[in-house]
Amino acid sequence: MTIELINTGSELMLGRALNTHQQWICRQMADLGYTVNRQVAIPDAPHEIEAAVRESLSRADLIITTGGLGPTSDDLTRDRIAGLLGRNLREDEEAVRRIEQFFAARRRPMPDKVKTQALVPEGAMVLQNAHGLAPGVAIEVDPNPFRPGNAPSLLIMLPGPPRELRPMFKDSVIPMLPNKLPLQNPFFSRTLRTVGIGESVIQERIGALIAELGIEVGYCARVSQVDIRLAALGNGSQKLIAAAEEIVRKHIGDYIFGLEEDTLESFIVRELTALGKTLATAESCTGGLIANQITNVPGASAVLLAGFVTYSNAAKEKFLGVRMETLKAHGAVSEATALEMAEAVRRETGADYALSVTGIAGPSGGTHEKPVGTVFVGLATPEKTIARKYYNPYDRETFKQVTAYQALDLLRRKLSAIA
Ligand code: ATP
Repeated sequence: MTIELINTGSELMLGRALNTHQQWICRQMADLGYTVNRQVAIPDAPHEIEAAVRESLSRADLIITTGGLGPTSDDLTRDRIAGLLGRNLREDEEAVRRIEQFFAARRRPMPDKVKTQALVPEGAMVLQNAHGLAPGVAIEVDPNPFRPGNAPSLLIMLPGPPRELRPMFKDSVIPMLPNKLPLQNPFFSRTLRTVGIGESVIQERIGALIAELGIEVGYCARVSQVDIRLAALGNGSQKLIAAAEEIVRKHIGDYIFGLEEDTLESFIVRELTALGKTLATAESCTGGLIANQITNVPGASAVLLAGFVTYSNAAKEKFLGVRMETLKAHGAVSEATALEMAEAVRRETGADYALSVTGIAGPSGGTHEKPVGTVFVGLATPEKTIARKYYNPYDRETFKQVTAYQALDLLRRKLSAIA
């Protein structure tokens, strides 16, 4: 089976937008057992769109295009593909109704051009857009004049904005795949998400054991986190994946915080919610990143009471009540300050748990004793307050991200009763 992805958008070619569709769609397809064979990014230019789609139609069973379905003059995908296939455009009633409803609900006049988004090629299946105006489209190109023997292809066009594309892919594209493009063999995959352990250590502990099972294993390293992807094809693959998961859990279970799309912060919010417990943060060098990550999770309001960014000594003293003597005697970046910050924010907010961070992000400010990258993370709980020292000698952004994950991981370990 041949699958090709065409990402359109001049902003991609100008480096003004990162092509996240490429990664996201390939990942979704891989998790379902499909491999994308080829991906191209092209500008919003009529001849480029036509040439790329024509080429893909000459060999692929499934072609997915992204972008260019909107109402502006650079949104050409739908028109050009309809032209290439010799199909007229028709107005889709349901799409028109949704567009009219959108403007009526906002009591805004509807610009004329907007309705062009409801135009779809004749004979196409319409994929309604729950988060925007332009519907997606799926076309069975059968017979396919561009392919040897006129073999059929399925051509799917998806809108550009990720918040529109992703739900449409999940709600409309995934459900049609088993029927339109059945896999020869059953496929199973499992992604286990870890934090606080490096990929080479993981491989050392589980690599040989998993290899004995004869399944595919992949490691994807991100900042502070490594995803372990187990995949197998064929009869019995589900059992093999379960056996592999057991091995991973047995050897590095303490580092696993979730599966598939889980995030560390969603784990924290879920656990605290289940326990009926609350959290507060006092951050210095992470500039509010911990609170930001927690508030990215729906339902965060049930657990996060407050997040302080106390960058200066004066703010640590004034808003948290950290003692000037502590700051003078030990310095702002110290275990004693991290402990006091965590205790103070827990006391002031009445939260059950409190996290604090104080460190030296650099590039300046380091000393021989406390080099750039030194950071202390505090955790105050109903039972006691602890602090850990870390060394994160990275650029500022990575430093912040790594430190935020270390703090969240400290809390995760406490909530999971991991030593
Ligand atoms: P619109 O109605 O917004 O015009 P559209 O379907 O025409 O939707 P585009 O105009 O191509 O989509 O893209 C809209 C926005 O979506 C882009 O400005 C960009 O921010 C984002 N986007 C498009 N393609 C990608 C991509 N491959 N990866 C990440 N973001 C993208």
